[in-house]
Amino acid sequence: MKITIMGTGYVGLVTGACLADVGHQVFCFDINREKIQQLLQGQVPFFEPGLAQIIKRNVSQRLFFSDDFLQSLNYADVIFIAVGTPPNGDGSADLQYVLGLAEQIGSHITDSKIIVTKSTVPVGTAEKVKQVVDQQLEVRGLTVNVEVVANPEFLKEGAAVADFMRPDRIVVGVESESTKQVMSEIYAPFNRNHNRMMFMEVKAAELTKYAANAMLATKISFMNDMANLAERLGVDIEQVRLGIGSDHRIGYHFIYPGCGYGGSCFPKDVKAITQTARQAGSPLTLLETVDQVNQKQKQALFNKLNQYFAGELSGKVIAVWGLAFKPKTDDMREAPSRQLMEQLWQVGATVKAFDPEAMAQARLIYEGSLKLTLVDNPYDALVEADALVICTEWAVFRAPDFEQMRQLLRQPVIFDGRNIYDPHAMACLGFHYYAIGRGKSA
Ligand code: NAD
Repeated sequence: MKITIMGTGYVGLVTGACLADVGHQVFCFDINREKIQQLLQGQVPFFEPGLAQIIKRNVSQRLFFSDDFLQSLNYADVIFIAVGTPPNGDGSADLQYVLGLAEQIGSHITDSKIIVTKSTVPVGTAEKVKQVVDQQLEVRGLTVNVEVVANPEFLKEGAAVADFMRPDRIVVGVESESTKQVMSEIYAPFNRNHNRMMFMEVKAAELTKYAANAMLATKISFMNDMANLAERLGVDIEQVRLGIGSDHRIGYHFIYPGCGYGGSCFPKDVKAITQTARQAGSPLTLLETVDQVNQKQKQALFNKLNQYFAGELSGKVIAVWGLAFKPKTDDMREAPSRQLMEQLWQVGATVKAFDPEAMAQARLIYEGSLKLTLVDNPYDALVEADALVICTEWAVFRAPDFEQMRQLLRQPVIFDGRNIYDPHAMACLGFHYYAIGRGKSA
């Protein structure tokens, strides 16, 4: 089938590449000319395991990139919208990119189209997209059949290709039987062995995405809240985690205490759904607290450092391992590392940081900053550093050379925002080790 993807970011590019890999003909459009140029030269603009290989084997055969809107619109009858939906000042989702595309589509189409919203969009957006397209058609005096489908994406950065290729579910909010058939055909290669397609009402599909992310964020904030209590009570939260995770109704997933959730989805989606709820007159009190707990948790590492150094952080050099908001991605959007570093800079400390994949992102975000030194390997970050802070649980940090670390650091002190080491073992190795909810405050 021929498919157009509008927006070639994390979601659009993975979607386009994976759809091409199973044999569809895919045209990826983005307004970011630089990004399209990079893709045409065989470079992937961000790090995502396995993605570069998929693009390489499909590009120019079944996978095309362009910044030509009209060409992309005319290429296919099915148009996926995968542009960003960042937060407005009040937390609601900013729909300017989605609705801007709807307006452009309505201004130029001449034959019927299926528009698929792949972006995470508030309940009622598919309806709005349809209205905007129809308004443009009316202005042009045309009658063209347009149906809008809600098909939220559940991939996880760092495992995006695997998630897209073997999804837990494919949620499709659709009205007509004929469009349902088209969506079934598109996803048939990903729906073998057992049925993963979940057809539902359009608004239900839109809300499903927010409800899923809200539930996951709730698990994290619950555990962080509990970790803070554990710390006060002198209890090791890791023992509690194992104790509760063994209950199948709770499970082990997403109950890891840490320095807060980040990324482009959880923070923004929790805010957006709470805003939708307020506007609908049915506030999500629990979720509002989930967000507050997370904002507080993102300060946990700074507070521990500040306490350890008795408020004397000015002039200190802090080593940071891990800048991405989670492992296996270079995405630093809303990453806990950013809040930590910015707080450290405010009080006059400097940072030496290493991340296996996010260095280029860090360079872009903090270009020219004299307070940040990016180094090529984890050990270089420790040279003349007063403390080490771990913000991302990359595999490479799990079994480091502790002896070398102790020698390189000015003081053998580690603040672990991801609880990757054993406190007892760290004490035996001669470190002052502070983690999240492990029974000992800094
Ligand atoms: P992104 O910022 O990586 O990509 C968005 C892309 O859209 C950019 O390349 C941008 O240049 C392009 N764009 C903006 N306006 C455009 C226009 N008018 N025409 C064409 N392209 C345009 O964003 P993302 O992380 O891929 O997220 C996209 C959507 O998917 C968001 O709604 C997000 O919430 C949702 N989502 C993201 C993830 C994730 O893990 N990143 C997972 C599931 C859902």
